[in-house]
Order: sequence, then structure tokens, then C-alpha cells
Amino acid sequence: MINPDRLWDRLMRLSDIGKQESGGITRLSFTPEERAAKDLVRGFMLEAGLAVREDEVGNLIGRKEGGNPEAPVVLVGSHIDSVFNGGNFDGPLGVLAGVEILHAMNEQGIATEHPIEVIAFTDEEGTRFSYGMIGSRGIAGLLERSELEHCDKDGISIAEAMRQNGLDPDAIGKAARPKGSVKAYVELHIEQGKVLESRNLSVGVVSGVAGPLWVKFILEGEAGHAGATPMTLRRDPLAAAAEIMLAIEQEAGKTGTAVGTVGQLQAYPGGVNIIPGKVEFSLDLRDVDQAVLDRVEAEIVRVAKQICEKRGIQLAIELLQRIPPVICSEEIQQAAKDACESLGFEPFTMPSGAGHDCMQLTGLCPVGMIFARSQKGISHNPAEYTTKEDCADGANVLYRTVLSLAGKA
Ligand SMILES: [Zn+2]
Repeated sequence: MINPDRLWDRLMRLSDIGKQESGGITRLSFTPEERAAKDLVRGFMLEAGLAVREDEVGNLIGRKEGGNPEAPVVLVGSHIDSVFNGGNFDGPLGVLAGVEILHAMNEQGIATEHPIEVIAFTDEEGTRFSYGMIGSRGIAGLLERSELEHCDKDGISIAEAMRQNGLDPDAIGKAARPKGSVKAYVELHIEQGKVLESRNLSVGVVSGVAGPLWVKFILEGEAGHAGATPMTLRRDPLAAAAEIMLAIEQEAGKTGTAVGTVGQLQAYPGGVNIIPGKVEFSLDLRDVDQAVLDRVEAEIVRVAKQICEKRGIQLAIELLQRIPPVICSEEIQQAAKDACESLGFEPFTMPSGAGHDCMQLTGLCPVGMIFARSQKGISHNPAEYTTKEDCADGANVLYRTVLSLAGKA
């Protein structure tokens, strides 16, 4: 078992770095706050008896050797960067739980066949450069030099920020792990939703990570005088959009797993007394199952066309982004479910609606995740909270999962 007090104490110490007046955390990549956070975590890794290094993209890594040092490594971790005014647990829990399980193993004299590394990935959130998952893309060998030209609001590029932190942007290729060198990646993360809380469970096993599909709907009708145009003579794109939005809610809802969200809506020209001539709105559609996602998307498009035809509206649908969903490894899910059962927890599986670093690693190794309960589902917010007990439950499930994957020495 892990030491819950030590894990909690480290979480609280890390949460002092980048603390805002609101109580929230702002720790953006390659800033003094992030540097201070890395230095603190480096100290924790050394206390845990790990060999510590930083790779060419700034990932902080602590390693515990295995009985067979040539065996592929079992990787655990998460990130310690944050969004603006974010919470204390999104990211840090996974990194510090990784440090804690290795600390506990060393204290308890537990040896494994495979080496185990805990990693704090560089810039998962993408807050500073509007471009995230830099560290995980780096070790997966996906990060291109051209991607480092993304700039922050002051015009400083990722490459420049790397140089300011003693890293060589031309050397990022060296961070890539060779194929076959990583046995598994497992991440403990807060759920950031209300599913575990609603089921009164402290821990969940993640079945997959939903891939977001982003599209823009553009509807054109005929602008007109709100007073002079009878209802029967209107071609109102906003009324059509309203119908489509209800269809989105219905079609996503039918599946029981998919989620569809319209988060942006603009009506033009946008006058109180003008029937809009044009409307644009966004759709974010997610599911962990590509087939379900495809089906819901096709159905929404079919219904939208029907609605627009009936109303004499021109419809255009623009694809903004299509990220495929990730299925978590069966072996890792099973190891995590067995870990839950051995600790007396219900082995509950659930999808992740939010994106995580593991999405970048699927070409490198099998991936898996464990969720810890979030209070009220609040995240990316100073009020984000996971209790000490729930952090410990998640860390203990991670501990047993990793022991099973890393094998007895
Ligand atoms: Zn996160």
C-alpha cells in the first residue's frame, strides 16, 4: 500500500507553486513557475530513491531499475502544467502518485522484472501556446520541429521558450522512445466529471478516451424585417439551427455514450428586429467507439439536411478537427480491474470524455488510465477537488496495476 499522508503532503506542497489569489493554479509551460514545480518534483523523485533526468523536450523522468534492465519500461505519469487559474489535482495527482508508488516499492523492498519510470510530461494543457501534449508527442516520436513555431501571446515560440530553458529545439528527435522500449503507459487522473460521484465510487477504470469531432454548421436563409415578414414567408436560419440543435441532443442522447455540444452560435446581422440571414454554430461530438461516433455524425448530418430543405435554408458543414478515439489496452484494463477487486472496490469501467497524453502514445505502446473521483465534477477551476482518501484509493489501484504489469523480479 502507498503512504496516503506523504502523497497528500506532496500534492499540497506542489499546489503552492503558481498559486493565484483565487486559490487556483497558473503554471504554464517553460515559465519560472513550471521550473519551480519541476524542481520540487525532482526532489520528491530523489527522496523516493529514483534516478532522475530531463529529456530533450523537457519531460521530467524518475526511474527505478528492474531485475532485467533491458526489459521494456512500464511508464506511469501525467503532467504538472495547468490551465489559467486551474485546480490542484488535474495532472499533479498522476505524477505524484507515480512517485509515491515507486517510493513505497523501494521502502518495502519490492523488486520488479521490468524497469518503471514516472514521467511529468511537458505542456499537456496547451494553454500557453494554444498547442498541447508536447512532451507526450515528443516521446512518441510525433513532434516535428515545425510544430515548435507556435507562439504564445507575447510572440515567443515554443522553440524560443525551450532555448530559454536550456533545451535545444533541434534535438527533440532524441526524446523519441524506440519502438518496443515501452511495455505500457498507465496514468492516474482525476475524472473531471460526475460519473464516479453519482455512483458513489472512488475509482474507475478507463475503457477509452473519446476523440473529439469538431464541425461548423453554416446556415443561410433570408434576412428580413421582423415586423413586416409574416411567419409563413420566412426562411429563418436560426429557427432551423434550433431544430438541428435539438436533433443533436436527441441523436447523441439515444446512444447512451456519445456526447454532443453546441458551444458557439452566431446570428448575422444580429439585430433585435431582424430575421437573421445567416447563422453559424459549432458542434463538438465525442464517443470512445468510432463506429458509434460515425453513426451519430451521419444521422445528425442527415437530419440537418432534411430540416434545412424543409425550411429553404442553404446548409454547409465544415470539418474543423477529427481526432480518432483511443481504446485502452485490454491487458491494462484487466490489471486495473483486478487491482480494484483486490482492494475491495467495484471494478467499474467508464470512458474518458476529456483528452489526455495517452492519446499521443498509442503508436508507441499499449495505454491505460485510472480515474479518481472529482468532487461535483468540477475541473479547470480553483474549486477542483479530490479528497485525500480518493487520491489514496486511486494511487493504490495504480500501485497494484503497475506491479502486475512490471512483473515479479
Ligand atoms: Zn490533465
